[in-house]
Amino acid sequence: MTEAKKTNPGLKAVHSQVLQDVMGRVDAAFTAMKQRGHGLPRLKKFGQFKSFLFPQIDNDVIVENQIKLPKLGYVTINLHRPIPNGFKLKTARIIRKASGWYVAIAVQMDVSIPGSIPRGHALGIDVGVEYFLSTSDGEQVKRPRFFNQLHRKLELLQRRLKNKQKGSANRRKLNQKIAKVHEQISECRRDFHFQLAHQICDNAGLIFVEDLDFRIMAKGMLGKHTLDAGLGQFVNQILPWVCWKRDVYYGKVDPNGTSQECPDCGAAVKKDLSVRVHHCPECGSTKPRDIASGQVIQNRGLSAVGLIVDQIACGRDLSGALPRQDRVKQEALRSDLEKPALYA
Ligand SMILES: [Zn+2]
Repeated sequence: MTEAKKTNPGLKAVHSQVLQDVMGRVDAAFTAMKQRGHGLPRLKKFGQFKSFLFPQIDNDVIVENQIKLPKLGYVTINLHRPIPNGFKLKTARIIRKASGWYVAIAVQMDVSIPGSIPRGHALGIDVGVEYFLSTSDGEQVKRPRFFNQLHRKLELLQRRLKNKQKGSANRRKLNQKIAKVHEQISECRRDFHFQLAHQICDNAGLIFVEDLDFRIMAKGMLGKHTLDAGLGQFVNQILPWVCWKRDVYYGKVDPNGTSQECPDCGAAVKKDLSVRVHHCPECGSTKPRDIASGQVIQNRGLSAVGLIVDQIACGRDLSGALPRQDRVKQEALRSDLEKPALYA
């Protein structure tokens, strides 16, 4: 960095710790390429850098509606919520979005929070394309419709782009509009994910999901849809976060063959992707394919946390998993009762 500053005097205008953090990011990108097989890090063009970090800020940088940042001085902000008492300010990340500039402040307090104990009603969740998710209780949630409307709007704007001259003011304005729609889509999606995660946590003490690699799924045939629905973001980030906040146990199970197994008797029931109904020739159980998968995930999760369904005849209150004969009754309920989907 010292060498680079000699040849690029512009670098001196930037706070030194911000530059150090950028070098850290470059280093992390190359390490990820070597160790985890990520792609070659690309050089960022002007305007592509979306955020930068002040890795160390003082506790008194925020005064009323202003934040004091090194080299930038006082900047007026819209403080969305007060800094909670007893927390130390650690870092400030400046983020550029289509709708404006944001600063995200990380705060820290040294307390240990115990992890959630497995108890209550257990829920297995299967995520997919036809339905956004299906639960072992028989609820199925569709992908919300507003995505399609926003995507149409996006396509419309993107078609206009080819009529605009490169580098022109009109093209820049149109690109700004497109960026705003992208931001709107990701915010709608995030909002939908959070509401859904909270609704799931309302009725569960334990939640199990498949340990899937969504990056591999996205490369396959289902590509566009899986990425668009943001399944990975929901399953790996938002759901565990909401579970943690709501004191709900969150666990991942082996994803192999969850759709090829009967949740009621454990028999292997082969079916390809076009078969949408699970029908077991061994025990006669019949239900939608994704709900059957959700129930297999539930069973696997329960045995993973040591609450094996068949062995806990007296453990109903403890675990929420039902002993065998009650389970059969519940099966009957599951098939009789058509529950309304959370988001129709
Ligand atoms: Zn069966």
